[in-house]
Parts: sequence; C-alpha cells; structure tokens
Amino acid sequence: MKLPFFIARRFVAGEDFKQAAPKVKELNQRGLTATLDLLGENVDDRKLAEQTVDEYIDLIRNIRDDGLKSSISIKLTMMGLDIDRDFTRDNLFRLLEVAHKEDQFVRIDMEGSDYTQVTLDLFKEAYQKFGKHVGIVIQAYLHRTEKDIAELAEFGADVRLCKGAYKEPERIALQNMPAIREAFKEQAATLMQHTAYPRIATHDDELINWTKNYAAENKIGKARFEFQMLYGLRQDTCEQLVADGYNVRVYVPYGTMWMPYFTRRLRERKENIWFILSTMFKK
Ligand SMILES: Cc1cc2nc3c(=O)[nH]c(=O)nc-3n(C[C@H](O)[C@H](O)[C@H](O)COP(=O)(O)OP(=O)(O)OC[C@H]3O[C@@H](n4cnc5c(N)ncnc54)[C@H](O)[C@@H]3O)c2cc1C
Repeated sequence: MKLPFFIARRFVAGEDFKQAAPKVKELNQRGLTATLDLLGENVDDRKLAEQTVDEYIDLIRNIRDDGLKSSISIKLTMMGLDIDRDFTRDNLFRLLEVAHKEDQFVRIDMEGSDYTQVTLDLFKEAYQKFGKHVGIVIQAYLHRTEKDIAELAEFGADVRLCKGAYKEPERIALQNMPAIREAFKEQAATLMQHTAYPRIATHDDELINWTKNYAAENKIGKARFEFQMLYGLRQDTCEQLVADGYNVRVYVPYGTMWMPYFTRRLRERKENIWFILSTMFKK
C-alpha cells in the first residue's frame, strides 16, 4: 500500500527536485547550506542502479542551474552494492567524474553494518582519485568506529559524524544513549584535532553544546567545522546557531522512495510521531 506523501512532508522536501528546490532556496536565504539526498536504498537491478546514477548526475547539474548552495548525499546500495562491488565502484566513479568537473561535493551516507567495510573501502579508493570532492559518514555507535576514525583522520578525510540510525545487535554497536554520547564526543574530538572541516550531525543539545565548548576551549574557530541537521527538525536551533556565527548544513531528502527514511525518523524519536499526527490533522 502506498501511503500519501503528505504524511512525510514534515521530513521530506518533496517527491521530485522541482518540489525540493524551493525548500533549499529558502534554507539558503536563511544562511543555511544544504545537502540534497535523492531517497532510496537497496536497488537490486543493474538498470535501475545505472538510472539512479543518471539521476544523481542530473541533480548535480540542477543544483548548478538553480544556483543552490547544496552538495549531494548518496547511498551506495542505490548504486548497486547489493549486486556487485566493482559495478558499484564504476557507478560511483562515473558520478564523481561529473562532481569533479562541476566542482561539486558528494557525501557517501553510511548504511547498516553489513555495508560498513565495503563502503569504507570504496570511499578510500574514491578519495585517492577524487580527493576533496568525496566524503564519508561515520556512526558513533559502532564498536569499530574508534579504529576507523583514527584511520580516516590520518589521511584527513572529510567526515560527517552521526550517532547511527540502523538497528544493530549488541556485538556490533553500543546500545545505550550515555555510552553513544561519550563515544561521539571522543570521535568528534579526534576529527576536530586532525581533520580540516568536521561535520557534526546531531540534534542533541548535549552534543551541540559539547562541540561548541570543545571548539572554544581548543581555539578551533567557528568557520573550521559545521553542524548538520535533518530537514524539518530543530529549525529554531539551526537559525540560532547561524545567528551565533556557526556554519549549519541541512540534509534535505526528496523523492518517491521516502518510506524507509520516514520510518527511521519515527522510530528514533516518539515526538516525531506526534508531529506527523498533527500534520495529518492540519491537512
Ligand atoms: C545531517 C545528518 C545526516 C545523517 N546521516 C546518517 C547516515 O549517513 N547514516 C546513519 O546511520 N545515520 C545518519 N543520520 C542519523 C543519525 O545517525 C541519528 O539517527 C539521528 O541524527 C538521531 O540522533 P540525534 O543525535 O540527532 O538525536 P537523538 O538521539 O534522536 O536525540 C537525542 C536528544 O536530542 C534532542 N533532540 C533530538 N531531536 C530533537 C528534535 N527534533 N527536537 C528537539 N530536541 C531533539 C532530545 O533532547 C533527544 O533526547 C544523520 C543525521 C543527520 C542529522
């Protein structure tokens, strides 16, 4: 059963680029940058994966043509990771050739733990060829992250740090919030010390305040890192951060395949369910 889009509109900027672009423009006018994400995951058909790459390429050109201040975020399972690793690498490189030519930046989102190693491996290969045009995401809750982040920091990768959104077993990931927050802080400190421009992706006041204090205490300027938040969440906080001189980027998802993303947002915070219910009644 396909649910109507209006229930997701709080978190998803539209079902196509045309609907999402004005939302990005509005964010830009309020001093926020964006990263546009064409929603979808786990494509199991080669043609479809190639079509997705074409759509990502169109997205890069549309961003340029509309003069949006936005990079793009992608998922490797949309480019064939469930089909074949080399096929995915070819698709990723085809996209990055265009990003390189257009001076655009592509961030590879991190998915569930079955994909962590291969995603990091493909990122490292891509980084060697495309350098500053490609970045990666690290999830604080994974037990392996301390080691991964040290390695990424060593070669100065562009990293978005987030808590992690997928349900993982205890042997793979931390399960309780205080432990995840502590891990996040340690990893954020490593990135702040060793990488040029870390991206701190959270809506959590404790972590936002910790980041601000850490930067101030270590004389790390506000222009040397950015906060990232998801479209539709904590808009007042985003604006306050901008007013206080911080850089803030909003992750703006769009597309018809919004259901898995939407479900993750509902699962991670029960207040989001109330948001949706109130949106439905306001329809
Ligand atoms: C830009 C961005 C990109 C991301 N990319 C990925 C990715 O590639 N892979 C991945 O696995 N995950 C990704 N995530 C999701 C991330 O891993 C978390 O699941 C998600 O951000 C929830 O964790 P949190 O720290 O934001 O806050 P939570 O852990 O949900 O909440 C902690 C506390 O923060 C406060 N809070 C949270 N939300 C709100 C709100 N809306 N209003 C008021 N207070 C609030 C509350 O006090 C809450 O108790 C991304 C997140 C962001 C922001």
